[in-house]
Amino acid sequence: MGRRLRHVLSLSSQSIFIILFLFTSFSPANGKTNLTRPSFTPINRDLYHNSDSLMEEISALVHRHPHKLYMETIGSQNKGYRAEMTVVTYCLNRTEIDDKLKYRVLLSFGQHGRELITSELALKILSILSEEQFLPDMDPIILKGTLERLVIKVVPMENQNGRKLVEEGDLCERRNGRGVDLNRNWSVDWGKKEKDYDPYEENPGAAPFSEPETQMMRKLCLSFEPHIWVNVHSGMEALFMPYDHKNTTPDGSPSQRIRLMLEKLNHLHCKDNCVVGSGGGSVGYLAHGTATDYMYDIARVPMAFTFEIYGDGTASLKDCFKMFNPVDHTTFNLVLNEWSAAFLAMFNMSTHQLDELRSKTSDSDKLVSTEDYMNGYLMEMTNRYGKKEEVLELGMQEIRTYFRLFVLSSVLLMFMFCSRISKSSRPIVSGMPL
Ligand SMILES: [Zn+2]
Repeated sequence: MGRRLRHVLSLSSQSIFIILFLFTSFSPANGKTNLTRPSFTPINRDLYHNSDSLMEEISALVHRHPHKLYMETIGSQNKGYRAEMTVVTYCLNRTEIDDKLKYRVLLSFGQHGRELITSELALKILSILSEEQFLPDMDPIILKGTLERLVIKVVPMENQNGRKLVEEGDLCERRNGRGVDLNRNWSVDWGKKEKDYDPYEENPGAAPFSEPETQMMRKLCLSFEPHIWVNVHSGMEALFMPYDHKNTTPDGSPSQRIRLMLEKLNHLHCKDNCVVGSGGGSVGYLAHGTATDYMYDIARVPMAFTFEIYGDGTASLKDCFKMFNPVDHTTFNLVLNEWSAAFLAMFNMSTHQLDELRSKTSDSDKLVSTEDYMNGYLMEMTNRYGKKEEVLELGMQEIRTYFRLFVLSSVLLMFMFCSRISKSSRPIVSGMPL
């Protein structure tokens, strides 16, 4: 998230800044070259993959572990803009992948281009899941007991096009390849703008789900029906739960227990430095149209989170790479190790909470068939306040038309029926066959 970055340089102003820097650095001053250091940190290539090599490494990992991992690439386009997304699925034993008793976890990394560290964490977590890497202090029996109950889908780099822009030098870019913030493009409270709205940071797009990346993520969510969703960001250290668009957390004891779980994670893996609570209540601003609010409120994912895994509050507002990403080896490894451990601990605690929820949830409270939803025939779902929301664009016009035709023909039939009664001298009842 990190919207304090609203005041960072815009795309064009950063370009000017780079040109000015080059000019002032290399123009002779008193016959000498000015070697002043830049006020922004470049991407540290000793630590960070570029996007292609990261995806290649993930692909190689998947191919080494075909019994546990598989990978698919999906694509979508809209008005000449195309986006692709790789999804890696983990199941300890792939033959059990459709086991309905397993809990389903959906994790998204790299939704904002400049938050490179998040995609590195995706690779780290996949390496641990494949058992190529191990974490110290992690009981292998407890870990195996947790993992065999899960199917995990990982999107290592949701915003590949935005990430490319960052790699080409626009280190402050968080939006997708055509300037839309993918964490403002969802339908819950979409498009609402706060007083300090800055399109460079938070452009919500032309409409909810206008962006191919958001459309793909929504489809993924609706077909997979996760029990746990985590949107992984950087810019600060936080464990957020709903809501982002208002300053409260959901009512009820499940919500309170989830909060306690996050407090515990904070203590165990964040040295009590993480902000815990609702995104809207804790981050210092309200965010409208976010993925996590959609996952919780519309897709009804019971455990929906946004984790912010790193932030350097002391970095200059011009220095986006440093603000959002560790720049030295020690911190880089510490962040990846601590947060991998935090995720695995969260999986463990969540499965216990979900067991309780599962035992209490009645059938009537289950999700409406997502298949119908995806086909566009089910237009509305009732959210937690009993309010109708989320109108799907697919088929809506047809259904409206059919409805109008139905009403019109009913009125006509009624009219004909009534006029026939008024003209007839015979009693109505005797006209009916016995
Ligand atoms: Zn972010």
